[in-house]
Amino acid sequence: MNELFSVQGKIVLVSGGSRGIGRAIAEAFHLEGARVVVSARNELSLKGTGLDYQVCDVADSGQIAACVDAVARKYGRINALFNVAGINFRFAAEIFPESRLDEILAVNVRGNYLMASRCGKVMVKQGRGKIVNIASLHTHESLPGVSVYGTSKGAIGSMTRALAVEWAAHNVQVNAIAPGFIRTDLNAALWERPEMRAWVEQRTPARRLGAPHDLVGTAIFLASAASDFLTGQVIYVDGGFTAGSPWPLEIPR
Ligand code: NAP
Repeated sequence: MNELFSVQGKIVLVSGGSRGIGRAIAEAFHLEGARVVVSARNELSLKGTGLDYQVCDVADSGQIAACVDAVARKYGRINALFNVAGINFRFAAEIFPESRLDEILAVNVRGNYLMASRCGKVMVKQGRGKIVNIASLHTHESLPGVSVYGTSKGAIGSMTRALAVEWAAHNVQVNAIAPGFIRTDLNAALWERPEMRAWVEQRTPARRLGAPHDLVGTAIFLASAASDFLTGQVIYVDGGFTAGSPWPLEIPR
């Protein structure tokens, strides 16, 4: 591969790398010659990846510290963090259970922040690094029922800019990928419903749901030297959803 886009030999930690989007990113980096460590809560699913792994619940700051320090100790550096761990629960805003609100914020905001902070400490010291957070369509716009998830993903946008500004002079770039609707365990039940699939196919300019591998090219770009002057940005990989929507008008061509 062109040197500019190479991730060969890079040490890449994928938090939330056992399934879905994180796993697709982890496998792609492995194929491109990176040395990948995946982390999540469930050891069995981590083992199933066949990659090096660390059990780590990002809701527990002690586990984050142990995980990041173990990777840094074993490999001597961390070149890139993919901050993918995330959860969602849907309720109307007027009755959103406080316990679910706490859970979402503990993982999606606090957990992702602490993971970035701990990896950032290693990266600032080594004078280089890439952090890629996973934002969402909800960073930019809203849908009913996901007010807390939306709040958490708005925070990911702010966190991405804040850390980018703080660490730019240390040659640590912080960006986010905002995926569109990607079929994974997180939302499988939703996309089994024909009316939901029809809505997303009608509303998305690309006329389809995304798959985890749709995010891989952007992920590699954001971990490679090709993006060394790109920081603090949220890149929407959403089939055009946030750009606009198709309409039924016949266009002469
Ligand atoms: P997924 O298939 O449910 O995978 C979630 C991953 O996060 C798993 O590896 C899970 O492993 C891990 N995880 C969950 N809670 C964790 C915790 N407390 N500590 C550590 N790891 C934890 O979900 P996905 O669809 O791939 O989503 C990944 C990310 O993309 C999330 O941040 C999500 O918000 C975002 N996203 C998804 C979509 C979409 O359409 N799918 C769209 C926009 C953004 P364990 O359960 O074993 O811990």
